Amino acid sequence: MLLHFADASQDTSSKFIILGVPFDGTSSFRHGSKFAPDEIRKASYNLESYLPEHDVDLSSIPIYDMGNIGTLDEFGKVEDVIDAVYSTLINIFPQQFPIMIGGEHSITIGAAKALKNMKNVGILFIDAHADFRDQYLGNRFSHACTARRAYEILEGKIMSIGVRSVSKEEMEDAKRLNYKWIDAYEFHRRGWRDVIGEALDRLDAEKIYLSIDIDGIDPSYAPGTGTPEFFGLSPMDVKNIIDFVGEYLIGADITEVSPPYDNGNTSILAARLIQEIIAIKWKMMEDKFK
Ligand code: MN
Ligand code: MN
Repeated sequence: MLLHFADASQDTSSKFIILGVPFDGTSSFRHGSKFAPDEIRKASYNLESYLPEHDVDLSSIPIYDMGNIGTLDEFGKVEDVIDAVYSTLINIFPQQFPIMIGGEHSITIGAAKALKNMKNVGILFIDAHADFRDQYLGNRFSHACTARRAYEILEGKIMSIGVRSVSKEEMEDAKRLNYKWIDAYEFHRRGWRDVIGEALDRLDAEKIYLSIDIDGIDPSYAPGTGTPEFFGLSPMDVKNIIDFVGEYLIGADITEVSPPYDNGNTSILAARLIQEIIAIKWKMMEDKFK
């Protein structure tokens, strides 16, 4: 039997579409994110469907889990995966709201391509890494190049929060292109409330696709990831960001969870963040029609 996210229905016309992309072919340090979609689905069954802070019950929200794009061993090149993501998401935007479960972060390049022809759309990243390399180990579609490709595809409409691992070349390239992320140190110094407004000003988009690389969160909370970096955001920080941008969201992904390195908490956290994204978006939509 196929595994589905908790509270998901069989209705393909649902507002929210969950899809897994089990690919970790360019992962540089530790593999394993290809196992994340199903582990995160399993973890979702440990969570209550009712979220008291929003007074929302996920079991009454239209959610469809379409399963995984491809199987664990089906994917060859990263370009094929990006194409598969693109051709899937292009049929989901803008009427429906996709939530993509990685897999590694390179899959978000496919999302950027699918967003390209929509007006006033930007990608907000939460990530420990700038992912702004022009190429990595000879590959321009490596997960270390995600933000760079998205920057090109969306003509600058990206913003990253939580960056604390970056090469000198990335720093110089960003400076040259006049792109300035919000690093983790500034985030901690100023607090989420202060930086999120500025992040959105710089992003300058009416609609936001949220791309959460789980390593943006500190490894003390989210140890199960390929390239852990300390001094990260807390889960509460990320929840606050999600709730703040909720009404502008048009889609989201969570990438880089690596179950072989997890104690279980990282998958549970990812499942909880997916719940949060769905709940706040739904609540904002309902409020609009009241
Ligand atoms: Mn990262
Ligand atoms: Mn990343």
